[in-house]
Amino acid sequence: MITAERKPLEEIIAYVRPFDRILLVGCNECVTVCAAGGRKEVGILSSALQMAFLKQGKNLQVKEHTLERQCDPEYVEELSSMIDGADAVLSMACGCGVQEVARRYRDKPVFPAVNTTFMGASERQGVWAERCQGCGDCLLGITGGICPIARCSKQLLNGPCGGSTHGKCEISPDVDCAWQLIWDRLKALGLENRYEEIIPAKDWRTGRGGGPRKIIREDLAE
Ligand code: SF4
Ligand code: SF4
Repeated sequence: MITAERKPLEEIIAYVRPFDRILLVGCNECVTVCAAGGRKEVGILSSALQMAFLKQGKNLQVKEHTLERQCDPEYVEELSSMIDGADAVLSMACGCGVQEVARRYRDKPVFPAVNTTFMGASERQGVWAERCQGCGDCLLGITGGICPIARCSKQLLNGPCGGSTHGKCEISPDVDCAWQLIWDRLKALGLENRYEEIIPAKDWRTGRGGGPRKIIREDLAE
């Protein structure tokens, strides 16, 4: 999933201060799972904003709405019946959702209420960790299902480096060394020989190195 965290309230207040009527829009997908921008968080932020402005003598009108998926034009269209009643939109979706709303409603200011952070997975209740950087040429098939791009601090394709100590990364004793994890997993699977194969230099053009990316499926594209 894409993970996010709500921005500090003061930053959000600064965005909406010039306006009287705000459309506050959440998303039912990733930001709901990571408790950053779903229906519940929309309600909490709405109350916090109205309280903060009331204390300053201003009656901020906040219309709340949560879309099924804010990065999908089909659902973003739902806002068309509400958009004229708002001076600005405050989005609690990831950056993809914010941009989709801004693209559809060009004459309306759109502000982010969360900081989009990374693609990750839930480790345990309330803890999410980075797992993938979308490199466009997945290596998991040769690294035992553990990503050295997202989980090795140096993005080494052949590790570990000399800083790996007792299975931990040199950046912090709280961070597992990705290459220790890769070795442990390959060994457990009886695939130690994979570890001995040198992974060649990666072609980063499939990642961000090649500029903004697009997937075009000719069989689906209209
Ligand atoms: S190798 Fe690339 S695509 Fe695969 S998990 Fe890592 S960053 Fe993501
Ligand atoms: S200690 Fe391990 S995870 Fe940290 S940079 Fe070195 S190889 Fe990567």
